[in-house]
Amino acid sequence: MIKTEKLSKIAERIKKCRKCSLYKTRTHPVPGEGDPGTKIMFIGEGPGQEEDKQGRPFVGEAGKLLTELLSLAGLKREEVFITNIIKCRPPSNRDPLPEEIESCWDYLKEQIEIINPILIVTLGRHAMYKFLPSEFKISKVHGQPKEMVNSKTGQSQVYYPVYHPAAALYHGSLRKILEKDFKRIPRVIKKIRNTRI
Ligand code: URA
Repeated sequence: MIKTEKLSKIAERIKKCRKCSLYKTRTHPVPGEGDPGTKIMFIGEGPGQEEDKQGRPFVGEAGKLLTELLSLAGLKREEVFITNIIKCRPPSNRDPLPEEIESCWDYLKEQIEIINPILIVTLGRHAMYKFLPSEFKISKVHGQPKEMVNSKTGQSQVYYPVYHPAAALYHGSLRKILEKDFKRIPRVIKKIRNTRI
């Protein structure tokens, strides 16, 4: 089965999912979208109001900013894969609960396995904590690639934590930092490619 079909099958399962209580309040689940053949995944926190309405990730105000930031990295939305650690909107945009993140984990894990990206950009601290040790502070580690080895598979994966675009909408000073971190992405990818060949 090709990547597109595999990802569609996951999206179908997400659309029917009732593993946690968020299915009761969601309008549309948001599986994620983009190029299945991409080498870069962007992983946010969870759908907001506009995403819940449209069933697509990052289509509200934070999404507009994400699209602009991507262009600073020389990337278009359609060239990468964008998803979230949870696929349904928490009521009133509250933080996702640990049990919601856990219930949704298999979907994200499978999406990552299928896409097999060389770089995972985590947007905000919730996405960062899912992959990197929780003692990391986003203010200290943003914009620094971190390579982690999966103790079960022995496979290594590079993560690149950045602030959540929504944070820059509330705290204007973070915008410049995000811009700088996104502009560094092409160099990060080049470095990964050079060290793997
Ligand atoms: N914020 C997120 O974390 N994800 C979205 O899809 C939209 C806003």
